[in-house]
Amino acid sequence: MPGGHAERLFVPETAEDIAAVLHEASDAGIPVTVSGARTGTVGGAVPFGGWVVSLERLNKIKRIDKATMTALVEPGVILAELMRAAETEGLFYPPDPTEWSCQIGGTVATNASGARSFKYGATREFVIGLTVVLADGDVLRLRRGDVFSNGDGVVTLATESGRIITAKVPTYKRPNVRKNVSGYFNETPLDAIDLFIGSEGTLGVITEIELRLVPKPEGFFSGVVFFEKHGDLLAFVDEVKAASFAGRKSNDPVGTAPGSDMSASLVEYFDDRALSFIREKFPETPERMAGAVYFEQETTAETEDDLFEAWNAMLERHGADIDRSWFTTTDADREKMRAFRHALPVAVNERVVRNRQKKIGTDMAVPDENFPGFLKYQKEMLDASGIDYVIFGHIGDCHLHANLLPKTDEEATRSRHIYGRFVAQSIMLGGCVSAEHGIGKLKSKYLYVMMGERYLNEMAELKRAFDPKGILGRGNMFGMDYRL
Ligand SMILES: Cc1cc2nc3c(=O)[nH]c(=O)nc-3n(C[C@H](O)[C@H](O)[C@H](O)COP(=O)(O)OP(=O)(O)OC[C@H]3O[C@@H](n4cnc5c(N)ncnc54)[C@H](O)[C@@H]3O)c2cc1C
Repeated sequence: MPGGHAERLFVPETAEDIAAVLHEASDAGIPVTVSGARTGTVGGAVPFGGWVVSLERLNKIKRIDKATMTALVEPGVILAELMRAAETEGLFYPPDPTEWSCQIGGTVATNASGARSFKYGATREFVIGLTVVLADGDVLRLRRGDVFSNGDGVVTLATESGRIITAKVPTYKRPNVRKNVSGYFNETPLDAIDLFIGSEGTLGVITEIELRLVPKPEGFFSGVVFFEKHGDLLAFVDEVKAASFAGRKSNDPVGTAPGSDMSASLVEYFDDRALSFIREKFPETPERMAGAVYFEQETTAETEDDLFEAWNAMLERHGADIDRSWFTTTDADREKMRAFRHALPVAVNERVVRNRQKKIGTDMAVPDENFPGFLKYQKEMLDASGIDYVIFGHIGDCHLHANLLPKTDEEATRSRHIYGRFVAQSIMLGGCVSAEHGIGKLKSKYLYVMMGERYLNEMAELKRAFDPKGILGRGNMFGMDYRL
C-alpha cells in the first residue's frame, strides 16, 4: 500500500507510556495508527498522517501456567516465540496464520486464523482476557464471560477511571460461513471482549492478552497428497470434512482417543497453478497434477496405526497419487511441509514486486453448500481472462485465496474488475468479503458493499462509544473518506 506517512513514531515500553501518548493525541485530535509486526495484508498498520504507536518493545511473555493451561503476554510477543515457549511446557497454541513473525497483539486485533482453524477455530477462541487502552488513555480490563450485551444489544463497561461506557452492538445478520472478519463481531448476546478481537486497531490498543492453551498433541501424521483429477480432490476433501466433523461430535473433539475415527486439524488446497509456482522453490513437486491437499492428523501411540490405515484407505478411494505424495510423522519433515505451504504466499508476494504491480488477492468465504460453485465460477473467469493467477488456501473452511498477478496496467485494471465480480458473487451466495485478513484500508469499499450504509453507520456508532474523536486506526474498515 503506497503513500503511507506519519509525523511521529512512538516505541513505548509500558502500557502507561501508551496511555500517555493516546491521552495527548486525543486532546489534540491527532490520528494514531497502531503497528504490530506489519505482516497484515490489508494496510491496517499503514498510517496516512498522524502518529504511529509500535508495540515491538512490549514483548514479554509474562507467564505460561501449565496447571491452568494459560499464557499471559504483552502484545508485541512474536507468534513463533509464544508457540515455542508453550511447547517447552508441553502445551500448544493452535492459531497459525501461516506467517509466524506476526505479533500476538496483531493476531488478536485481526482475529487471525489459518490452517488449523479448521479444527480449533480462530484466535478469538483462545482469548480469555484483554487489557485495552482506549483513545483517551483510559483503560479497560476485559475477561471472557464477565460482561454481555443486554436484551437491547447494549454493552455497558466500566473503565479503570470509573467512567461508564455504553455501546450498541451492530445488528447485521452474520453470514453463515465458517470464518468471517468483515466488520465488528456481533453475536447475540455478545461477550464484550469479542468487540475488541478483530477490531483492527479502531477501538483501542491491546496492551495485555491472556490466552488459553491446549495440551500438545503427542504426535502428528501429515501429508501433501497430489491428485491428477480435480474432481477426485474435491471428493476427497468432502469426505475428510465429513469424517472430521463426525469425529468431533462423538465426544472426542481431538479425535485421538483409541479407536476413534480420523479428525484432520488442517486441510489446505493448492491448485495446479499454485503447484507450478511452488515448484520454483520445491523442484521435487510432481508435474501434471490437477492440485494437492495438505493435511494434518493428530495421533497418539495407540491411535496412529488405525489412523494411518484410515487415511490411506480414503486416499486410495479418491484416486490420490499415493506414490508421488509426501507423508511424515517427524517434526523435521512436518516443518518442511509447513515451509512448502508458507513458500506459496511468499513467492506470490515476490512475483508481485517483480511485476511492479499490486497483488489482487481474495479472502472470501462462502457457505459450504455454495463453495464448489464459487470455486468453479472463479476458475472459469480467471482462465478466460488470460491473467496469471494461483488459488490456494483453507479449503476445509470453504475459504480460498485467489491471487491475481497482473503484469501490466491493463491487466491490473481487468484484475480489479474481476475481483469486484468475485465480491458481488460471494455476497450473493451468502458469503463475506474477508474471512481472515481483515478489512484494513484496502478492502473498506468492499465492506461497504457487503454492509451497506445502515450497518456501516451502526459500526460507526459503536466506534464512537469508545473513540468519540475517531483518532484510532483512521481509514481502517470505514475508509479514509468516511466521516465518523
Ligand atoms: C505470507 C503471509 C501469510 C499470511 N497468512 C495468513 C493466514 O493464513 N491467516 C491470517 O489470518 N492472516 C494471514 N496473514 C496476515 C497476518 O499475518 C495477520 O494479519 C497478522 O495477524 C497481523 O499481525 P501483525 O503483528 O503483523 O499486525 P499488523 O500488520 O502490524 O497490524 C494488523 C492490524 O492490527 C492492528 N494492531 C496490531 N497490533 C495491535 C494492538 N496491540 N492493538 C490494537 N490493534 C493492533 C493494526 O493497527 C492493524 O490494523 C499472512 C501474512 C503473510 C505475510
